[in-house]
Amino acid sequence: MEFIPQVAASYPSVQQEVARLAGSPEVRTVFDRFRAQESQFALWQMEATRVAAPPFGEGARGAWLADRFRELGLSDVQVDEVGNVFGIRPGYGSRCVALSAHIDTVFPAATSLNIRQQGSRLYGPGVSDNGAGIAAMLAVASVLGRSRISHGMPFLFIGNVGEEGEGDLRGMRHVFATPRWRDTIAYSVIVDGAGADTVVAEALGSRRFKVIVRGPGGHSWSDFGAPHPILTLARAIEIFSQTPVPVSPKTTFNVGVIRGGTSVNSIPESASMRVDLRSTSMSEIDRLERTLRLAMEQAVAIENLAAAQQKTKKPQVVQSEFVEIGNRPAGELPPDARLLKVIRAVDAQLGNTAQVQRASTDANIPLSLGREAIAIGGGGSGGGAHTLQEWFDCNGRELGLRRILLTMLALSGVGE
Ligand SMILES: [Zn+2]
Repeated sequence: MEFIPQVAASYPSVQQEVARLAGSPEVRTVFDRFRAQESQFALWQMEATRVAAPPFGEGARGAWLADRFRELGLSDVQVDEVGNVFGIRPGYGSRCVALSAHIDTVFPAATSLNIRQQGSRLYGPGVSDNGAGIAAMLAVASVLGRSRISHGMPFLFIGNVGEEGEGDLRGMRHVFATPRWRDTIAYSVIVDGAGADTVVAEALGSRRFKVIVRGPGGHSWSDFGAPHPILTLARAIEIFSQTPVPVSPKTTFNVGVIRGGTSVNSIPESASMRVDLRSTSMSEIDRLERTLRLAMEQAVAIENLAAAQQKTKKPQVVQSEFVEIGNRPAGELPPDARLLKVIRAVDAQLGNTAQVQRASTDANIPLSLGREAIAIGGGGSGGGAHTLQEWFDCNGRELGLRRILLTMLALSGVGE
């Protein structure tokens, strides 16, 4: 019973503030504009998605977004050295609320971007992930630009690169490595994909490796017995995959790709595998990495010992190399974080039900640094992410946009 008065003392104040905001005439006007301007948001979404933004090739889409930021009257619009795009809606004080959406896609540069609309549905690769996030960010900047709402902290809009796959969160990593942003962002609201029914407040960590084994190679008949990269890998996988993983904290591993060899009658000169280690706990990821490295060392030792015992051969060895191809830190929002209270109050105000989830998003970076961040959807609904059949349905976008705006206003403190 003792904790209830404390909760009651803090919780309603956030709830009351959100209710006050939602009822203010300026905010209601802006809410109406979200509905009235839907066709414009869909146009932006399709236009953005038509500009190819493959991993490490987001420049053209970034330039497109910077133009929109300027048109919408954001100040200090700039593109940094990795390709992140920034724009500011000024406020007061030195700290700010960031609203970001990743602009990269998983699709290679050559992918045909046939983006089209049928009724309320938009179709095409990247249209939801993260066309929906880009459209939401532009929608918020656009309605604010035409409104008299003033907010406390400035709003920092960020279109960031490098969220997907081997981009490895490099855009957000760079934002939080840049003193100007790292020292001023108080809260990060990250819009990724469609929907309004989730809050990602826990960052799933992952570490990924390409492991390469190299050897002398040779003829399958005349060099039989030479140390063998594919057999070494196979042995390492066999040893590694015996390692137990806990159910809680949930921890997983995967060998997702194996490559190597030249022909059926050649001992390969090299072979490689790509391994994904994931956990909600950084120490479990560290443990899995140590286990993987140990398994590799054992497999190499066994293979080289066997080759050394081939008395007719001059000594030959295999060697392994680890290349880290991904490292996403884990972290989570503390239960008493203001951002969590605000999004819950906003959802209560809007009659929205949302589940707190754990995922790997741009929020991993601020969360791993102990900063307040959430990832939410841009409203509407979507499906087929990371496929050519991706779609987004604009119905319900309005709820997602209200949710984002109300959250930002509540976080910033609103001026009169
Ligand atoms: Zn995404």
